Amino acid sequence: MGKRYVLDTSAIISGKNIPLDIEIYIPESVLNEIEFREKYQTLLDRSRIVKPSREYTEYALKAARETGDIFKLSDTDLDVIALTLELDAVALTDDFAIQNVLRHLGKDYMGMVEGEIKHEYRWVYRCKGCKRYFNEYHEVCPYCGSGLKLVRKKI
Ligand SMILES: [Zn+2]
Repeated sequence: MGKRYVLDTSAIISGKNIPLDIEIYIPESVLNEIEFREKYQTLLDRSRIVKPSREYTEYALKAARETGDIFKLSDTDLDVIALTLELDAVALTDDFAIQNVLRHLGKDYMGMVEGEIKHEYRWVYRCKGCKRYFNEYHEVCPYCGSGLKLVRKKI
């Protein structure tokens, strides 16, 4: 049995050739997002469409909260993470937030077009004035009163 791969929407619509000797899985919610499915029929015909279990969806959710990517991830994205965990698969995705959560959990992923992130990062707030970082949201910086913005910080 070959290695299993889970595709997200970006991987499907990238139009990139996917090797023929790998097992492809697509979360049901991802399939529902695809418009003009006939364009990808050959790929979809050789894919298994499945729904991740609740247990793994919650596991994905917990990990996404830990990295702070939760704000960047849709339910569909979480399904991609959950299914990758459940099947012990590799995720094919260009979504850096999905990649980051998988990296956090020590799982494999491959970018289709954009490549892969090389470092795990965390979403944090950064003061536009004094440049301090904060893990939690503040309306204004408690030190200098400037506004905060959400940034990615390497860890
Ligand atoms: Zn400040």
